[in-house]
Amino acid sequence: MKSHCHITLLFVLLFTSVVFAQSTQPSGYIIHCGTLIDGVSSQSRHNIDINVSGNKITEVRQGTGAFSASPPEGRAYFIDLQSYTCLPGLIDTHTHVLLQGDIIVDYDEQLLKESTAYRAIRATVAVRRALDFGFTALRDLETEGAGYADVDIRNAIDRGIIPGPHMQVSSRAMDVTGAYPLLGYSWELELPHGVQVVDGVDGGRKAVREQLSHGADWIKVYSDRGGMVRPDGVLDDIPTFTLDEMRAIVDETHRQRHKIASHAAGLNGVHISVEAGVDTVEHGTYIAPEDLKTMVQKGIWYVPTPYLAHYRAQVLPRTAERMQQQIKIQQDTFRRAMAAGVKIAYGTDAGAFEWTISPAVQFPVMVQYGMSPMQAIQSATIQAADLMGMKDRIGSIETGKLADIIAVAGDPLADISILQKVDFVMKDGQIYKRPAGH
Ligand SMILES: [Zn+2]
Repeated sequence: MKSHCHITLLFVLLFTSVVFAQSTQPSGYIIHCGTLIDGVSSQSRHNIDINVSGNKITEVRQGTGAFSASPPEGRAYFIDLQSYTCLPGLIDTHTHVLLQGDIIVDYDEQLLKESTAYRAIRATVAVRRALDFGFTALRDLETEGAGYADVDIRNAIDRGIIPGPHMQVSSRAMDVTGAYPLLGYSWELELPHGVQVVDGVDGGRKAVREQLSHGADWIKVYSDRGGMVRPDGVLDDIPTFTLDEMRAIVDETHRQRHKIASHAAGLNGVHISVEAGVDTVEHGTYIAPEDLKTMVQKGIWYVPTPYLAHYRAQVLPRTAERMQQQIKIQQDTFRRAMAAGVKIAYGTDAGAFEWTISPAVQFPVMVQYGMSPMQAIQSATIQAADLMGMKDRIGSIETGKLADIIAVAGDPLADISILQKVDFVMKDGQIYKRPAGH
């Protein structure tokens, strides 16, 4: 009975894939872009044709001008984006697809009242939305109590079961005893945590081994909590892991040829992280000048998530004053990091705000903090791809790269906010969204 079902299923799958291939999947595309921002050049170019074959970009060439309605070469399909700007698919290097905002739907409720299966179902919608918003790759920085469900989401996308961006995932993340929610309930209750609780050098090494064995691409640690602004404007924090613990976790991660992201909001968390040699510093609201120097020396990435404080100030008016203080500190850190030459990649903490909001909402904030529109775009394309170790495959529109291409109506260099309205999305040579009539 069982094998019979499998054979029937196999026929159905074969049949449907053949029909699908014949009816909707041409062998390639020629995409005509009125304007192209390719992710690596400092200037945009005009009237560019991009050839796509299978899942790759096979040629990027100067077009002849306006789209010509000549018959397709072979079975390639023309896509006329004359009045659009094409860009590489956007990349967000700090997301939580298993979180649905943590204010409007209370964080504790998500952990206590929603099963992992339910949260994974919601995550399938989040990844589809990310794709619709033009984000064709994500680095997802922990499941917030949903175990290894991010590994399953990544695998389901890679196997073509559900649509979604390319994903690198970090599974459960780590923090020390008593530092991460759920907290504050009766001591008699055993409650879940939004992380794997890890203590000690041996505990750290063991947790890295466990998480990698279950399919994590990245390791993530929380290196501080709390946060109090000192009179001199420094954001002081309570460190979580000791330097010895952090060194062990970093060493075990690197020994196994993986990379490690560290949530570090303030003075001590950042210092311990960069001393231990993590690969990315997340948030970094305050970073001391000497730590910025170490980041440059060691090539450590800075993934500020500057939109989040603006979002919190809006939706939680009682935090507005504290958020304004953080915004001021982070804006200063951001400018100092740019001046010091620290590598900065685009990461928003999407999931900490609802997935109905495009992660592109952060571009105007980064421009306001001192990046040119082109720098902000590159932080979310070639730079983000570099952070993910995928620069050879994604992050720019160049021959040989994966065909991850988006388009917006208008010029994002003149108005960066239009990246929040993406009309065309191709990932891996497949179209997920296109303007009406195209
Ligand atoms: Zn986060």
